[in-house]
Amino acid sequence: MLPTPMPDLSDLRDDLDAVDRRLVQALADRQRLVTDVAAVKAGDDALPIQDPDREHDLLARVQALAEDAGVDGYFASTLFRQILRHSVQFQAVRQRGEAEALRVAYQGDPGCYSHSAARRHFAPVGGAAFQGARTFGAAIDALQRGDADRAVLPVENTTAGPIAGVYDLLTEPGLHIVGEEVVKVEHCLLALDGVRLADVARVGSHPQALAQCSLFLAGLDGVRVDAEDDTAGAARLVAASGDRTRAAIAGEDAAALYGLQVIKRHVANRKENYTRFLVVAAEPLAHDARLPHKTSLVVSTDHSGGALVRVLGAFDAAGLNLTKLESRPSPTAPFEFLFYIDLEGGMHDERVRQSVGAAAGQAASLRVLGSYPIFRAETPRAAVAPRAAAPARPPATTGAASAGARRATLVDRGGRPDTVVEVAGVRIGGDHPPVLIAGPCSVEGREQIFASAKAVRQAGGVMLRGGCFKPRTLPYDFQGLGFEGLALMHEAGRAHGLPIVTEVLHPRDVEAVAREADVLQIGARNMQNFELLKEVGKTRTAVLLKRGMSASIAEWLAAAEYVLAGGNERVVLCERGIRTFETATRNTLDLSAVVVARERTHLPVIVDPSHAAGLRRWVPALAKAALAAGAHGLIVEAHPDPDRALSDGPQSLTFDGLAALAEEVGLAPVPA
Ligand code: PEP
Ligand code: MN
Repeated sequence: MLPTPMPDLSDLRDDLDAVDRRLVQALADRQRLVTDVAAVKAGDDALPIQDPDREHDLLARVQALAEDAGVDGYFASTLFRQILRHSVQFQAVRQRGEAEALRVAYQGDPGCYSHSAARRHFAPVGGAAFQGARTFGAAIDALQRGDADRAVLPVENTTAGPIAGVYDLLTEPGLHIVGEEVVKVEHCLLALDGVRLADVARVGSHPQALAQCSLFLAGLDGVRVDAEDDTAGAARLVAASGDRTRAAIAGEDAAALYGLQVIKRHVANRKENYTRFLVVAAEPLAHDARLPHKTSLVVSTDHSGGALVRVLGAFDAAGLNLTKLESRPSPTAPFEFLFYIDLEGGMHDERVRQSVGAAAGQAASLRVLGSYPIFRAETPRAAVAPRAAAPARPPATTGAASAGARRATLVDRGGRPDTVVEVAGVRIGGDHPPVLIAGPCSVEGREQIFASAKAVRQAGGVMLRGGCFKPRTLPYDFQGLGFEGLALMHEAGRAHGLPIVTEVLHPRDVEAVAREADVLQIGARNMQNFELLKEVGKTRTAVLLKRGMSASIAEWLAAAEYVLAGGNERVVLCERGIRTFETATRNTLDLSAVVVARERTHLPVIVDPSHAAGLRRWVPALAKAALAAGAHGLIVEAHPDPDRALSDGPQSLTFDGLAALAEEVGLAPVPA
């Protein structure tokens, strides 16, 4: 047979160009429709600009469509989130008639994160002109002099905390906060074209960016680190120097602007790093009341006991949620403090207006700095949707709970259909096909977790497991790599398109772990750690709740109730074997628990055959039995070199073993 001729590269590129043109054209068509929708909505105040239910449905639809077309569902839904966000902003801008070319001031060199935030915020307006100022104060001056229409200033960063200098400026007279923008900070190493990491002898950036990349920098032997005024300025210096031994840490926008190339992406210690910016104007703006709003205030109190509590009490009484409370020394009076408060709701809302009035009555001074719309899509996970009260659904009656009186519980089946827990496109529960989750017991290092992610994906796994905080019987045993391991695992998961599940051991760590993990595992040893359960109940991150090794099914379901009662309904139960008189296996896999739990609760139930068996050769049979009993999935341990694993080696499958297991239980990928 003749070999098929390779297609011509330039033909392929022409085809790609044509596809790109169609994509852009489709975006333009969509934008025209959005304009029509905005016009219809403008005539009817009852129609919301942002409709979370519709967005949710749309994202789910897009994801399913993408997957059917062989495109990664997570990728497609992330892209669509951006598109939706743009269209909400576009409608809001239309509503305000804000179509003139705005002059927007920011602090820093072109290409810095503030510039990116400003560009992103004003993208729907089109035609905005951006001007970099040397300092935050200079950006505000431009506004006050009338040389700029808006200033965009960073106020807080999820890693570094509040940006003090900006808070002090916000109290200047005649300033109004009219918007906010949240930007994901993704530090990259930039250098001249063709430079390799090994060539780099000097790295420059803003001191805060350098601090945020300390782990990466520590790994570069003998490299000199220079503090510069800002990230984009450091990039500009590298470009101007023509020096092939120099590199800068900055965002990708800076690379594009200064003609540098990204030689390494994601060099920050933490992957989830966001900065929140405020948009400031000299006049307040009228916003569409149908958008969700935030209101920012600055308050001072006298020196009497409980003064601050009384101020906050006014918001509590109105049931308003505060999203921020920051204290700063007063710039004018020594040892006096100003409190910056953000709350959910706009001043157009009677409840907000009244509670602000009541708070003012309790404060020495109170000023509203602004009331402005927020855009829910694309904000970091920890900051999304306000915490809902416990689910409104009436609890069913029967007894998941303790031995005493049978109480109404949320976990109970109560005639409800199966709950499907969706994690980045992976659906667990109901009639969805069983899922395979796999990975090492512990994350041990970059190579190990990347190799594991690859093997899991190849075997047909849909989620990566791995412990970073390990609950070990002996304090001398390997305790896990902590947040460093989590960052590696996050990266490995993303690289191979797998969401990640990892154990959280301490209530204190829940929020931080939830920023990086897609699913929070509560281990068998912590199933009745009620403080931990309450804390994960406050998040909206999915939870994998393992059954305690001496817990009855009722106690296990009662533990899940803690999470549901907090308002987090995304719970997956996991049977992993219990203690019995039998010692031949590590634990006794109680498959009747799968059958019973599936009858008693609507939550999905999966099985961990690894921790039950304790020996890898027994894992496949138990896995098959689990699925036969009706489990919604499996979570198994696999390691590139099980005999050298730092924990649970004997029960960990080899990668070949994992692929064979997936094949045997019918979860291996269908060959193309
Ligand atoms: C684990 O998943 O590695 C683990 C510690 O599991 P369990 O809590 O079920 O023992
Ligand atoms: Mn383990």
